[in-house]
Amino acid sequence: MRGAEAPFYLAHGDECEIFAAAYGNGLPVLLKGPTGCGKTRFVAHMAAALGRPLYTVACHDDLTAADLIGRYLLKGGETVWVDGPLTRAVREGAICYLDEVVEARKDVAVVLHPLTDDRRILPIDRTGEELEAAPGFMLVASYNPGYQNILKTLKPSTRQRFVAMEFDFPKPEHEIAVVTRESGLDEGRVRSLVRLAGKLRGLKGQDLEEGVSTRLVVYAATLIAGGMGVDRAIRVAMVEPLTDDEDVKRGLLDLATAVFG
Ligand code: ADP
Repeated sequence: MRGAEAPFYLAHGDECEIFAAAYGNGLPVLLKGPTGCGKTRFVAHMAAALGRPLYTVACHDDLTAADLIGRYLLKGGETVWVDGPLTRAVREGAICYLDEVVEARKDVAVVLHPLTDDRRILPIDRTGEELEAAPGFMLVASYNPGYQNILKTLKPSTRQRFVAMEFDFPKPEHEIAVVTRESGLDEGRVRSLVRLAGKLRGLKGQDLEEGVSTRLVVYAATLIAGGMGVDRAIRVAMVEPLTDDEDVKRGLLDLATAVFG
């Protein structure tokens, strides 16, 4: 990513300044917000703007500290140590982005603690090394506080080590600009899709667990721009991904018909 042109990111507020200030002071950053609202794009944009390489790890419930740090592997009859993405970022002074960090196993938090205080070190038990983070290293993590899962929330002892920023779906004018730019669809139809997205988000907590993401609005717009009928694009990109319940689906499709007329 270094030297590449920064991927398009439309700022909603002062998030770029805050991120740059945290980077300049060697502070880790936590991005809170629903899935598909632009967090990953924001980090990619900032990494390029700051001229840092970026290692992104999509965390899942089997992800262990060893996946981040590295492990001994057998290569041609020899055992060799292979750095994980976090170790590479620490050595190179890169940005390491742990997407959906609460999903990861508990031992991951233990690894992050010495990296997120002023020691900025990564102890590697397996090799006996204790790496000091190279200048430019930055830890960024994201999580979605919307998932009401008591087992999957960040412990205060972990979250209180980060500068935190809240993300949400862009306001309509911003979302129209983002979706138009990303999909190439005309602004008129994007405006209607964004209006529909607003209505679908209003159903969160009643019929829907999560509101429709900007990512899905971009998908719908991209399919329409590519020639797919509006009804079909909305069904496959903005309704089916949200629910499996037939009655709810029918209600959402009726809403779409009302918005598009
Ligand atoms: P998250 O990481 O929050 O799940 P992403 O960063 O992957 O979400 O965003 C999904 C898509 O939404 C991106 O690929 C991009 O097309 C679009 N997007 C959302 N917000 C913005 C924004 N502010 N600027 C540019 N693109 C955005």
